[in-house]
Amino acid sequence: MSSKICEHCQKQFSLKQNCVRHEKTCRFKSVKQELEKKCQDSSVLLKQLEEKDEQLLQKDKQLQEKDEQIAFLKTIIGSNVGKQKQGKTINNNINNNIIINNITTKDVAEFLEPIKFEEIKSALQDLNYKHIRKGMKGIAEYLCENALNGKIITTDSSRDILAYNTNQKKLIRDPKGSFLLNKTLRDNSDILLDKITKENQWMQDNQSDDEFEGEIRNVEMLNSIVKNVQKNKTVENNEFCNIVKKSGINTLNKIIHDNIETNQLEE
Ligand SMILES: [Zn+2]
Repeated sequence: MSSKICEHCQKQFSLKQNCVRHEKTCRFKSVKQELEKKCQDSSVLLKQLEEKDEQLLQKDKQLQEKDEQIAFLKTIIGSNVGKQKQGKTINNNINNNIIINNITTKDVAEFLEPIKFEEIKSALQDLNYKHIRKGMKGIAEYLCENALNGKIITTDSSRDILAYNTNQKKLIRDPKGSFLLNKTLRDNSDILLDKITKENQWMQDNQSDDEFEGEIRNVEMLNSIVKNVQKNKTVENNEFCNIVKKSGINTLNKIIHDNIETNQLEE
């Protein structure tokens, strides 16, 4: 019967009254209570630690956001120093902290037209031999002039962070433009490989004295990049990144000048 077993130490008794008497002085009772208290204390500590952890995570996130904002401002400053608009040097504007501090990636993103992947697809149909012969550089330059024109900003020039809106009007951070590059090549690998093969063949058939040597190398390099993407490999490409990044800095500049900086100066 359970009434004959000490609830603290589980010792058995033949008589219930002995058990009751024992329970009042059972040394396990105090030990148990002490343990329970310690348990409670440590769960409180654990909870506090978890809260601290959460706070640290938040701080980390805030620091990261600050880092990103600083890098963004550096990109703006780096692309503006020395340039002039309406007789005022941008250096004067930079010295005016109010103006520069107010600009965030979000502000700029509001003026950014979204990238449309169908537009990239249809633009690539018109890619010509001059672009193909320049390899990846040619494709990047061509896209920056039309389907991607004014749609990408460089938010961190030193870390090669690009950003753009898609149809959901959500700003996407894209380090090195890697996502954009891989999606573009993957979505359009058939048309690209077709153009690449034709141009390569034409140059091989028509060249004399290695006159297309450099171009053939560009085209073969491009060919292997597109084929890798087609096999579901993820590629990175510095030529693509650098050209899009440069275009992204120009777009950032233009948006600030046309929409943000001038408005604030007139206030
Ligand atoms: Zn006991």
